[in-house]
Amino acid sequence: MELAERALRISPSPTLALDSKAKAMARAGAKVINFGVGEPDFDTPEHIKTAAMRAIERGMTKYTAVAGIEELKEAIVTKLAQENGLLYSPAQVVVSCGAKHSLYNALQVIINPGDEVLMPVPYWVSYEEQIKLAGGVPVPVPASRENNYKVRVEDLERAITGRTKALILNSPNNPTGAVYSREELESIGKWLLERGLAVISDEIYEKLVYDGNQHHSIVAVVPELSGQAIVINGVSKAYAMTGWRIGYAAAPLPWAKAMADLQSHCTSNPTSIAQAAALAALTGPQQPLQEMVAAFDRRRQRGWELLQQIPGIYCSRPAGAFYLFPDVSGVLGKSWQGRPIESSAQLAELLLEEVQVAAVPGEAFGQPGTMRLSYAVSLEVLEEGIRRIGQLISEVK
Ligand code: PLP
Repeated sequence: MELAERALRISPSPTLALDSKAKAMARAGAKVINFGVGEPDFDTPEHIKTAAMRAIERGMTKYTAVAGIEELKEAIVTKLAQENGLLYSPAQVVVSCGAKHSLYNALQVIINPGDEVLMPVPYWVSYEEQIKLAGGVPVPVPASRENNYKVRVEDLERAITGRTKALILNSPNNPTGAVYSREELESIGKWLLERGLAVISDEIYEKLVYDGNQHHSIVAVVPELSGQAIVINGVSKAYAMTGWRIGYAAAPLPWAKAMADLQSHCTSNPTSIAQAAALAALTGPQQPLQEMVAAFDRRRQRGWELLQQIPGIYCSRPAGAFYLFPDVSGVLGKSWQGRPIESSAQLAELLLEEVQVAAVPGEAFGQPGTMRLSYAVSLEVLEEGIRRIGQLISEVK
C-alpha cells in the first residue's frame, strides 16, 4: 500500500544523513573529522546526571503532568523573567521532548493548511519539513551575505502575501552563527505587530554568544508581541544535554493549552527523569556552562582565523552558536584531479571521500555555495580538519 501523502512529502534530515555516512566511514577505519554534528562534544555536567539518578532512586519514574512538572515550569518561568525579561506564568509553559518537539507543537497549533510561514535563508533543516507537516507553505526569505544573512524588514516585506501567517526567527542562528542585535529585533518586531503576524522565536543557542554580543528575545524587545509569539528554548545546547530531550515553549495561554492538548495525544509528558535533570540544569551551578562557552569561543576564533587563510573561501566571524559558515563559491566551477566541483554539495562529497572531512553543504539550509562546519570538536581536531580542507582546496584548478 502507498504511504500517506504527508509521509511522502517528508525529506530526511540531510545533516543526520551526512552524520551517518561519516560515522559509517569511521567504523570502517577511516580517520574521519566530523564537522557535521550539531551537538556539544562536552559531557553533561555531573550535578545534572546526579539529579537524574536521584530521580530514579526516589521513584520519579511515572507519568508526570503532560506539560511538565510544576517545579520545572516554575524554574523556566523564573529563567525567562530573570535572564530574558519575559513574563510568563507556569500555565503558559509547555515542556516537550526537545526544542524540536516544541517547534513541531507550535506549528501544529497555529498553522492552517495553506498558511505561509516565513523562513529566513539559510534556515535550520527541520523548519521546512515541520511547516509542511502542519499543512503550511514554507516561504524562504533570502538575506544578504553582507548582513550575515540576517533578514531586514525590507526582505520580509518582499516575501509577505495575504496568506502569510508567521515568521520563524532563530537567533543565535544555525547555521550562520549570526546574532540579531536589539535594534534589528526591534524593527522586525514592530513590523510583525503592524502586519499582525505570529512569530516563533527559536532561542535554543542563546547561551552561546561571543565577542560581547548579547542574546535578546524579540518578545522582550517588543513586549506587545507576546500575544502573538511563541518562545522556544531548551537545555540541549546550553547544558550539553542533546540526548535527554527536553525543550520548552512559552506562549499565550490558549496556544500553550492547545500545545499541551496536542502533546497529550502524541507523547504525553517528556521523560520524568530528564525533567529532573533539566530542573537541575536551570537551577544548579552555571560554571560548567561558562567553561563550555569559553572553549567554544577559543575554537571559534581559531577556526575562523584558519578558514580566512584559505584562498577562495570567505567567512564572516560568527557571533554565536557553534558553527562556522564559509562561503565557498570561489572554489566552484573548478575541479580537483579532474573531478568537477560545480556545487557546495559536490565539494562536501569530495571533502568527505578524499580527505575524510564531513561538513554540511549549504544546500541543506537553502543556501547553495556555502558550508556549515560545527566546531563542537577539540581544538586539535578543528585545526587538522581545516588543514585538510585547505590542502584539498589548494589543489583545485
Ligand atoms: N533549533 C535549532 C536551530 C537547532 O539547531 C536545534 C538542534 O539542532 C533545535 C532547534 C532542536 O534542539 P533540541 O535538541 O532541543 O530538539
